[in-house]
Amino acid sequence: GQCANVCPAGSITERYEYERVRKAAANPDRIVIFSTSPSVRAALGEEFGMADGSFVQGKMVALLRKLGADYVLDTNFAADMTIMEEAGELVERLTKGTAPLPQFTSCCPAWVKYVETYYPEMRDNVSSAKSPIGMQGPTIKTYFAKKMGIDPKCIVNVALTPCTAKKFEIRREEMNAAGRYLGIEGMRDMDYCITTRELAKWAREEGIDFAGLADEDYDDLMGEGSGAGVIFGNSGGVMEAAVRTAYHMVTGEEAPPLLYELQSVRGLDGVKEAFVYINDDVILKLAVVYGTANAGRLLEKIKNGEKQYHFVEVMTCPGGCIGGGGQPKDTEWKGDTLIKARIQSLYERDRQMKIRCSHQNEELIRLYEEFYGRPLSHLAEQMLHTFYVDRSADLGVK
Ligand code: SF4
Repeated sequence: GQCANVCPAGSITERYEYERVRKAAANPDRIVIFSTSPSVRAALGEEFGMADGSFVQGKMVALLRKLGADYVLDTNFAADMTIMEEAGELVERLTKGTAPLPQFTSCCPAWVKYVETYYPEMRDNVSSAKSPIGMQGPTIKTYFAKKMGIDPKCIVNVALTPCTAKKFEIRREEMNAAGRYLGIEGMRDMDYCITTRELAKWAREEGIDFAGLADEDYDDLMGEGSGAGVIFGNSGGVMEAAVRTAYHMVTGEEAPPLLYELQSVRGLDGVKEAFVYINDDVILKLAVVYGTANAGRLLEKIKNGEKQYHFVEVMTCPGGCIGGGGQPKDTEWKGDTLIKARIQSLYERDRQMKIRCSHQNEELIRLYEEFYGRPLSHLAEQMLHTFYVDRSADLGVK
């Protein structure tokens, strides 16, 4: 194709970003690649009259192809990559003291911005690992493009998410790692971000009978996700996923079955704690919170020494991304019942999967072998990690 090196992100003037994605999908010179976040598949069905929490992964993939996707990949793949990098970083903080403890998760952009604005002095506690979407984007435009023989400049990367804050995250200045690596100026790692609701609206406009679609599978190379990747959507899920892999990194053995269902970090309590015995040297003290009010109170306790942890997961939305701002609206005021049905859907899926740990994801193992080398390698640091800035000036007062 004769596709020019343009920056398709630019400024977003349309209220619905999917209009731009639709245009790209209609352009034969563009290779449109969707990556789907964990939570969308447990909620999209609600928009089409299906039962709450219906697990509609196969129909969602089929829908995206019908709408013009050239490839459909899974952000769960990158969730597994995030765990490799983030658990690797945690083990380094624990064993080499490379950065302060506790380590905070970094996959929620609203939380990251909250720390940058209100607690900039604690931004070194936030994992430098990019979010799954932040890792998926540059990996598609380098590794995937090369393997598939695609000109990265022709790729339009679209993240399908439950989240409205991701629209801000993909436009952070530093999210252009693939362009820096390949020497292509102006190329963004992820070009667009559309929500579950936007996708449903688009599908309705096209008159697609979603519930009647036959299941389809993801494309290869970056379409495999483990059970650990799928539970990322639930509050506590990132923590459980990290524990499964940190255990393996520390001991060289697989975590015992007991550690695959950490009940204490599941459910809708705003603040959850767990203590996980890995070996005599490593007993992890963990906390999981959602909502910035809960997070703020916990940060104060950590700062004044009242609470001590190694690792803290923070999500902004109720119940985690599963309750994200881009998910179907709770028009019937079902509240927790609806969120719980979606949460259950993801845990159920994890339980049914053969591969439940990020480090066992075979396509991911191959990616490390052929491209990144190992977690926290020089190239991985360059592409998959980031830094945070002090945004307290945005408050106007200090
Ligand atoms: Fe987005 Fe909410 Fe998930 Fe944060 S918790 S990443 S704001 S959906």
